[in-house]
Amino acid sequence: MFKKICFTLGLVFFFLLVILSVKNANLSGFIDMVENKTFDLRQTIMVNSGVKKASDDIVIVVVDDASYEYILDHYGEWPLPRDIYAKVVDYIETQSPRIVAFDLMFVKSLKSANQADKALADLFKKYNNVYTAMNLDNQSEDLRTPPVLPEGLAVNVKNYSENLNWADVTFTNCRAIIDDILNYSSNIGFINVTRSDDGILRTMPVFVKYQDKIYPQLALKVGLEYLRQVEGIDVKDFEIDANSVLSFGGRNILLQKDGSAILNWYGPAGTYTQIPLYKLIKAINNEHTDLDYNFHNKVVYFGTTAASLFDIKSVPTDKIYPGVEIQATYVNNLIDNNFISKVERFSTIVISLILALVIGTVVLRVNSAVYASLISLAIYFVYVLSAYYAMRFGNVWFEVIYPLIFAILAFISMLIVKYLIKSRDFEYQYKLATTDGLTELYNHRYFQEQMRMQVEQAKRYESNFSLIIIDIDHFKRFNDTFGHQSGDAVLRQVALTLKRNVRATDIVCRYGGEEMSIILPNIDKDEAYSTAEKICKRVAEKTYHLSGNRESNVTISLGVATYPYDGVDASSLIESADKRLYTAKNSGRNQVK
Ligand code: GH3
Ligand code: MG
Ligand code: MG
Repeated sequence: MFKKICFTLGLVFFFLLVILSVKNANLSGFIDMVENKTFDLRQTIMVNSGVKKASDDIVIVVVDDASYEYILDHYGEWPLPRDIYAKVVDYIETQSPRIVAFDLMFVKSLKSANQADKALADLFKKYNNVYTAMNLDNQSEDLRTPPVLPEGLAVNVKNYSENLNWADVTFTNCRAIIDDILNYSSNIGFINVTRSDDGILRTMPVFVKYQDKIYPQLALKVGLEYLRQVEGIDVKDFEIDANSVLSFGGRNILLQKDGSAILNWYGPAGTYTQIPLYKLIKAINNEHTDLDYNFHNKVVYFGTTAASLFDIKSVPTDKIYPGVEIQATYVNNLIDNNFISKVERFSTIVISLILALVIGTVVLRVNSAVYASLISLAIYFVYVLSAYYAMRFGNVWFEVIYPLIFAILAFISMLIVKYLIKSRDFEYQYKLATTDGLTELYNHRYFQEQMRMQVEQAKRYESNFSLIIIDIDHFKRFNDTFGHQSGDAVLRQVALTLKRNVRATDIVCRYGGEEMSIILPNIDKDEAYSTAEKICKRVAEKTYHLSGNRESNVTISLGVATYPYDGVDASSLIESADKRLYTAKNSGRNQVK
């Protein structure tokens, strides 16, 4: 019964804290943040152990610090005149790349550079494998009238998932690109990013909503064009199933609530092949350069890494990671079908509960707390290792922090339960070892122990204490008359009378048979005598209830001995009290000697 109560209390304690950790927004937010850090750690370990190799098919033409300096030197301004980009792409196109994509936005015509803009727009007319970017935002209409985007940019998405919340990725305005390009090309995707609360970019939006239409991420468009060319997969419309999985061409991307996908990382910044833009400019101007690269069949991304251009994010594998490499990573995920699927919260809770159950059982079953801790640690360690390998080989993100918290809670609550049960067992065992079952007085062994202790204490503190030994008068006769059962009942009632007439600190014992003893710490001879007299009187006065509704009276004889007058050790004191008891018997019983 007690065990059950403890166990139930333990469970209630466990579940209260579990519910708190799941339901409390601050707490669960904190747990999510720590969980994200474990994702970063897993990704970093994977990257460092060379699990994933970045695709050789992707190359980045970078406006790096050197190129930025070169451009300022030679053109006296930033941005670079747009016709130069056109010339660079013309150069690359001679080597037949698969795709050329700009992670750069060509917004609003520069009045001074109309010709340059026209050259760029012509480029999009000329090559249908050139892509560029736009950015959706929520700027006020006051600042910028939200442009109406051409039909061709939007995509059809059938969404059967109720989990997806488009509101998170709905924008009211758009930083679109110059009209000439907009009107010629549908090779345009947005380049919005999403960041976790701690500022680290772990997921990227796949679709966003603007003016009731759905638009794709630039990297999605580029990736799809790659799949079309390489795998012959032609995706026109999209479908998101009830489990928020977007599937096409053998790719399954689990979308988060905000419509984003969790990226798998391939390394720190600089993982993808980078060609500085200035080398290409030198090449088209027939200046000498050590450029030695062929763009044949490559996905060529244009972007910036120059520190002064600020297109820098923090990602799980690097604190400083250029936006263009995020686009490259995204495309690489599409190529490798490598996006991360995070196990949904419900399953995480179920897994955590199972782990808690296992660890709770270990704590309850394993006797040693040290071994229980070690085994629990080992079990959690195995789980974390499995979670790591699930990500490494299956691209699945099993959470590890909720399981840890549940495991710790189970460990603590079951440890408390075990402690409560054990301490109660101990108390029970102790009582069993020191008390007499019939009278519930202390037993003979305890009496002897206490006698020795009292002697020691009295010696040390030079105090005194007394001992009374009690024997029921003519008890043999009583038994013979009323039966053994009634004798037992009287023993119990006499024991109770004794207890009620002494102080809480006095120790009442069953000495043996129908003999009882009382140790009275710090009580001298006179006081012991008066206590004995009182007890003698009370026992004699009392009417005892016997079996079969009968009643009777009994008397007792008492012998008193006091330390140090009657003896300075336990046995001499007992002997002395015994002698006095004998005297009392001989003097007519029902009295104290
Ligand atoms: P006296 O006045 O001289 O003490 O006479 P007495 O008959 O009480 O003598 P003694 O103390 O020697 O008797 C012990 C008797 O107590 C023997 C036994 O019948 C009875 N007795 C001892 N233990 C128990 C017990 O646990 N239950 C019952 N019912 N009787 C007991
Ligand atoms: Mg006796
Ligand atoms: Mg007796």
